[in-house]
Amino acid sequence: MMALTLTMSDRPVAFGAEFKKEYAERIDWIIRIMRDLSFVFITSFLYYNDFKKLSDSQKNIYRKSIAIFDGIAPTYHVELLDTPTMVWDFNSLLTVVRTMFYLLLTDKKTPLRLCKHCQEPFIASRPSAVFCSPACKNRYNVYKSRGRNKGEE
Ligand SMILES: [Zn+2]
Repeated sequence: MMALTLTMSDRPVAFGAEFKKEYAERIDWIIRIMRDLSFVFITSFLYYNDFKKLSDSQKNIYRKSIAIFDGIAPTYHVELLDTPTMVWDFNSLLTVVRTMFYLLLTDKKTPLRLCKHCQEPFIASRPSAVFCSPACKNRYNVYKSRGRNKGEE
């Protein structure tokens, strides 16, 4: 009955299975997927953080290593709601997770970042933000000025 419903609804069988309450995946597979996303995130962070120090060949290695990941895009359609609205047709939970991650990573106004002090990921409130909180910014500046004072002594 489920297969028939899915066939009739024009969706892949995986769609119905992955959004059921009983759905599960092997933990080692999930860990590998999360490691891949983490690699992309860290590589992106380091690329821009060290941009001025990197040679052209090093920059090329960063760009090539990040380009091999993913590239599977969900389809979409337009619905006429209050305004014309783009609706994503996700066919798996993994596509949802990846799409949300890449949207956050590439967001120009509020991008996903790594805090310059605590190294925790955070969603920046503005494009130039490098600290997750005012507390981290203060701690970073205190440690930086203590380091500077030690060097002068
Ligand atoms: Zn922080």
